Amino acid sequence: MGDSGGHVGRGGRGGRGDSTRSVHAGRPPAVAYEPSLPGPVFVSHYHLPGEPAGPYLYGRDENPTWTRLEEALSQLESPDAAAEAVVFSSGMAAISSVVLAHVRSGDTVVLPSDCYQTTRALRDRLESYGVRVRLAPTAGEAQLDVLDGAKLLWIETPSNPELDVCDVRRLAETAHAAGALVAVDNTLATPLGQRPLNLGADFAVASGTKALTGHGDLLLGYVVVRDAELAASVRLWRKTVGAIPGPMEAWLAHRSLATLQLRVERQAANALALAAALKERDEVSGVRHPGLPDDPAHRVAAAQMRWFGSVVSFVLPDQDHADRFLTALRLTSEATSFGSVLSTAERRGRWGGDSVPDGFIRFSVGVEDADDIVADVLQALDAAK
Ligand SMILES: *Cc1c(COP(=O)(O)O)cnc(C)c1O
Repeated sequence: MGDSGGHVGRGGRGGRGDSTRSVHAGRPPAVAYEPSLPGPVFVSHYHLPGEPAGPYLYGRDENPTWTRLEEALSQLESPDAAAEAVVFSSGMAAISSVVLAHVRSGDTVVLPSDCYQTTRALRDRLESYGVRVRLAPTAGEAQLDVLDGAKLLWIETPSNPELDVCDVRRLAETAHAAGALVAVDNTLATPLGQRPLNLGADFAVASGTKALTGHGDLLLGYVVVRDAELAASVRLWRKTVGAIPGPMEAWLAHRSLATLQLRVERQAANALALAAALKERDEVSGVRHPGLPDDPAHRVAAAQMRWFGSVVSFVLPDQDHADRFLTALRLTSEATSFGSVLSTAERRGRWGGDSVPDGFIRFSVGVEDADDIVADVLQALDAAK
């Protein structure tokens, strides 16, 4: 699979494996009679006598529970080089911080035309502030053609929901040559599946709501950068708009990281098993999963990813057929979002906003047994005929 840049195996910080790093990331050294992961710190103001100095001044600025999670995320996204993570209240809060804190009126931003639809919705806001927005699809590195004079390139690979993939190294090199900053939305892959900073991005950004934390019980976002100035501007943005995670969410997220490698590995295997089974069905078309050897995205994905994510997308003949299929599923519940330990699926077209066929299904496999997921899908396909 991947070579040096995106490779996510052993290496860095003692050369430990991904499971070991996931379990230990950001936990303080063992101290007698203390928990391995101290509980959430609920605080708005700290005892602060005299001149304000020290790491913890006010609850909107810093919190020790965030600090530990941020250390963990920086280790996972950038095990080989020093980096700084900043956690946010949601993926969109993290994304907005990178976009809005780094462009000014008159600048140009390049967004994917097929990325997460709320990210694309930033376009209207940006244009109202006098920022020019150019859109190009993820597939085929089409964004290469619209980089001239850009200030910021936004990449989302694999893209949600259509699972197209682009060559991050190539785009980042070209964008940097054109003077643009480069951000990659790493939500679908997780830091164990792909390391955007090693591939040349300035910002690794993600929703922690999805596969990163995996239990469908919290919202969170983060940004990881190696450049201290960029880190400071993202941190200042968080403080200014107050887009901070609650300590309980931050703590739950950190607790979830211990099983990240187990989940990512199992979900990638389950996704591949489901995609292979779907390919055998006559009524199913357009099966996409970057791990499928004959997927149009596989070659580029394999060069920069280690795990290919939990999402499989496919198309049923029409909306009614898709709705019958979703209703007939017994194990998998109909829900938006993805990356949970529970399998979920939805007809993506029900939201509008994505240019997908009416029968387009976005399916997120959980960590159930592959045989059970596949059997459930096959019985639902039979029932929907
Ligand atoms: C869900 C999602 C987001 C937004 O994350 P929230 O935590 O829901 O704000 C951003 N990017 C991608 C690719 C997503 O799937």
